[in-house]
This record gives sequence, C-alpha cells and structure tokens, in this order.
Amino acid sequence: MVEEPLLYKMKKIKNYIDGKLVSPFENSYIKNYEPRTGKVYSLIPESKNKDVENAIKAAKKAFVKWKNTTKEKRAEFLIAIANEIEKQKEKFIKAESRDNGKPEWLAAKVDIPRASQNLKFFASAILNYESKFHEMDNSAINYTLKQPVGVAGCISPWNLPLYLFTWKIAPALITGNTVVAKPSEITPMTAYMFSELCIKVGLPKGVLNIVHGYGEVVGEYLTKHVDVPIISFTGGTETGKKIANNTSKMFKKVSLELGGKNPNIIFDDCDLNLALDYTIKASFTNQGQICLCGSRIFIQKKIYNQFKKNLIKKTSALKVGDPKNKKNFLGAVVSKDHMNKILEKINLAKKEGGKILTGGKRKIIKGELKEGYYIEPTIIENLKNDSFINQEEVFGPVVCIIPFENEKDVIKLANDTKYGLSSSIFTKDIDKAHRVSREINSGIVWINSWMIRDLRIPFGGMKQSGVGREGGFKSLDFFTETKNVCIKIN
Ligand code: NDP
Repeated sequence: MVEEPLLYKMKKIKNYIDGKLVSPFENSYIKNYEPRTGKVYSLIPESKNKDVENAIKAAKKAFVKWKNTTKEKRAEFLIAIANEIEKQKEKFIKAESRDNGKPEWLAAKVDIPRASQNLKFFASAILNYESKFHEMDNSAINYTLKQPVGVAGCISPWNLPLYLFTWKIAPALITGNTVVAKPSEITPMTAYMFSELCIKVGLPKGVLNIVHGYGEVVGEYLTKHVDVPIISFTGGTETGKKIANNTSKMFKKVSLELGGKNPNIIFDDCDLNLALDYTIKASFTNQGQICLCGSRIFIQKKIYNQFKKNLIKKTSALKVGDPKNKKNFLGAVVSKDHMNKILEKINLAKKEGGKILTGGKRKIIKGELKEGYYIEPTIIENLKNDSFINQEEVFGPVVCIIPFENEKDVIKLANDTKYGLSSSIFTKDIDKAHRVSREINSGIVWINSWMIRDLRIPFGGMKQSGVGREGGFKSLDFFTETKNVCIKIN
C-alpha cells in the first residue's frame, strides 16, 4: 500500500478489462520505481482475484464473437495497433527505458520496433497458415481444423517488456483466442500504453484484458482458473515449475520459456575480432538481462590469454550510466532488489575463489542518478563450471571465462548445466561448427553470431529452459486445438 499523499500526485496505471481502463477493485496500488534514479514515478494496480475474475469473465464473453471474426479482420486490428505504436514510437521508447532502466538507444533499436513487428508478423502469418488434408485410397478423406482454444493466459517478464508481451498476445489473438494478460508488475507501463491503443483502434471489448499486479496473486489465479485452458509463460525457471504444477492438474496447454546459462564457445581458429564483438554484445546487452545472454565464456587454451586481455580491455571501456545518454552501452538494472541479488552473486563467486578481472561493483553516479541501480560490467575468472555462478542464472552484467582443451572437452562443459536455451560457437572451421551444434543441448545455436532472430524459426529451450517452442507457425499451433475430420467415401 502506498501512503496517501503519493496516491494523488502520481500517474496511476489502470487495468484494461472488458474494453475499459479501470482501477483495481480494492483501489490498492504498488509503487513503480524508475531504475535510472531509484525514485517512485507511478503507481501500479495491486489487483486481486476479483479483478482477474472480471477479466476472465469479459474474455469468456467475448470469445464466441472473436473466434468467428474473420482472420482478415483480426489481422486489421493487430496492424492498426502496430501502426499506432510506430506513430508514437518516441513516447514508447522513452516509457520503456524509464520503466526498465535500459538505454533509450536499445529500446529504439530493439524493443519498440520488435513490438510492432510481432503484431504485423502474426497478422501476416495467419493468412499463410494452411490446414492439412490426408486422402486414404478411395475410402476416406481427412482434413484438419486448427481452432482457437478459448481464454488464453499470457504472462510476460520485465526484461523485454513490450517485446515479449506482444510476442505472446499477437499469436493468441490472431488465432481467435481472447486473452487475459499479466505483464510483470516491475515494468507495466508500455503494456498500459498498449491498452490505450486498443481502445483507440476500437478492438472489441473483452478480446484483450490486461491485469496488473503481483505474479503470486494475479498470475497464480490466472494459471489455476478453470476457464483459462491455455497458458503461455515467459520468466524464471522456478516460477515455471510452479506454473507447471498448477496447470498440470487441469491438463492445460502450457508453453514455458524459461531461464538459461548459455555457453559462448570461442575456438582458437575463430575470427578473433568478430568473436570479441559478439561476446561483448552477448554478455552485456540490456545489462545482461536477456535470457539468451552468453554468461559462460569458454575460450580455447591457445588463445585464452590474448582473448582475455582483449575482452577485459573492451569491457572496461564500456560506458555505464544514464539510459538517456546514447554513449552509454549499459543503463540501470531493473530494480533495487535485482541489483542486490546480482551483487550478492558476485560476492558468492568471490567467496568460491573467483577472481574479478574487471567490474564487480555497483556504480554510483553523482547527482540526480545517485540512487539509480547501476552495476559495472563484470568478468570473473578462476571458477570451475560446477561453481554456483556457472550453474545458476545471474541475469545481470556478469560473465565467467573458462579455458578449455579441445572440442570434446567443451561440449561436455557446455552441456553440464540444468539449462539448455541457447549457445554461440565461434570458429572458421564450418565442419567443426556443425559437429558441435549437433552435440550441444540447447534449443538455439548461433554460429559466429548471437541473437540473430528470424521470427519464423522455432524458439525455445531444452531441459529446465522450457517446454515447447514458440515462433512462426509453432506459435499458431500452440494457440490452436487441432481437430481431424474424417469423411468416408462410399
Ligand atoms: P519471473 O519468473 O519472476 O516472472 C515472470 C512473470 O511471471 C512476471 O509477470 C511475474 O509477475 C509472473 N509470476 C511470478 N510468480 C508467478 C506465479 N506464481 N504464477 C504466475 N505468474 C507468476 O521472471 P522475471 O520477470 O524475473 O524474468 C526474468 C526471467 O525470465 C529470467 O529467468 C529469464 O531467463 C527468463 N526469460 C526467459 C525468456 C525465454 O524466452 N526463455 C525470455 C526472457 C526472460 P511479477 O513480476 O509480478 O512477479
């Protein structure tokens, strides 16, 4: 609960339920902090079960009409919202950066363009989605229907707020489901702005509902609700386990995109400059808060010292500071809590014998930003692959470098984790790149690159990095029930 005087002064985010912006039922709010300054700048609805219940009811009521709306019409709505995001992109860029702490240049290059792209991509994908037909020698024919499931629960994290929010709701809506979405309560602003756009373009009421609040209340109620047969979740592995537990009793359709501890493998025959550039990006983009970041850097022994020297030099030259300043590669991490968790993990690594090669501390910036959540990009050496920091996700600007002998060695090391989301391999030997790709247990492998994303590819992780695949037709398959119709030929 926030003190009364603040309540009157600050911008209050609202829930979007049944086509309207509404206050939470109990009129209770959570403080929203600006990572750049560490100050409260808006208030987020602390929604309760009743708010979620209202949203589910509205979505359920809207379902029949929406599923019978033509694909073309549904696509028109998504395109109209995407066009609005593009028109208001400066406002969205600033809002995303302010809410999350990420540099404005990054929100401008990645987050906001991808949000409108996601909507347009699925608006177009549905028009190319084919159903199958199977003929049985003169005796019968089968055709397959792909039908919407019902009310979809879409739960998204804080690291790429609007990007991942739209990545879920676009395929859910375009296939004819109605949606109750729960953005992370840490970064709710652009989802709220998105709801304003839905009203502006006249999206029918109840088709999309956005309920803000704590995951353990709003998210949990949604995942346990009998009228929500399908859940798409992106977030941490521990939360994923709870969701798997809550949904399994009802055999809900579930997609889980979870954490990673991704290997970045540098062979001694690679293009060193290219490997270095991508390693910097994979380590520190978005303050290391991307599930795909490469946090275990394996370097072949012959080039270990040289690569290490260059990596330290380049990392220590990275500028950390005001997300509004284009020159800063890193802005603030998302919250004070998260900053403290990252710093604790660095300390734990030191206790385990880790040597900090650069960074390792909070960065205090004088003046207005002195309470902001800044962390120096950090490289740690001298820790085995089975140490805590090499096994657990840090989700911050912290990487470890580890030497390796040969191909067999590094495959074993790379796979020796409970995660299996993504990996990068740097070598000029294409045969080796293919061999290693086949042996690495991760859903995504990049060769001589990192985070090149084609929205059509299957995206997701192995082991505790997730269940299922998203992207392109995979997302459309997930958000539909497959029904076979068989007709006998007499
Ligand atoms: P969390 O798992 O803490 O939260 C994700 C979402 O789930 C939030 O909206 C959260 O709400 C909600 N939530 C929390 N508890 C529950 C619950 N019991 N039931 C239902 N929903 C709940 O993850 P973070 O937001 O901290 O995001 C970081 C994590 O996401 C990292 O582990 C990262 O690797 C992973 N991630 C994975 C990606 C992938 O594609 N594989 C992509 C991006 C991130 P609230 O915030 O209010 O607690």
